[in-house]
Amino acid sequence: MSTSPAQKPATRTPSDRPRIALIAHDRKKDTMVALAREFAPYLKTCTLMATGTTGGRLVDEVGLQVERMLSGPWGGDLQIGARLAVGEVDAVIFLRDPMTPQPHEPDINALVRACDVHDVPCATNLSSARLVLAQLLLKA
Ligand code: PGA
Repeated sequence: MSTSPAQKPATRTPSDRPRIALIAHDRKKDTMVALAREFAPYLKTCTLMATGTTGGRLVDEVGLQVERMLSGPWGGDLQIGARLAVGEVDAVIFLRDPMTPQPHEPDINALVRACDVHDVPCATNLSSARLVLAQLLLKA
């Protein structure tokens, strides 16, 4: 039986695990859940963190183990940015909604800027998220 790359099973120890941050704006949360389901076997081998509401959905609907930060508008993006700045995040999947103004736009920009400062991959739409996850999976 052939196994698709997205179905590759877990073999890593906790210290080898890629650390991935997952964030989705409200109108992108269904997309994030679908993406996480698609890559669930791989994501289960990673150390995951997420903003509060996104993380809750990933726990409840996909069965992932996720460290949940505050909700984005309450500082969750900044918490992830702080972790990233000290080398504790390897990739960010940030499904932003470009059509809806966000009250915490400065926090969003700060997180994306931190990714650029520290050269951490940051996928801000579904296609780039798939590419980042597929590449991480290849290296797994
Ligand atoms: P949330 O935060 O997952 O708590 O909704 C995401 C965001 O709005 O940045």
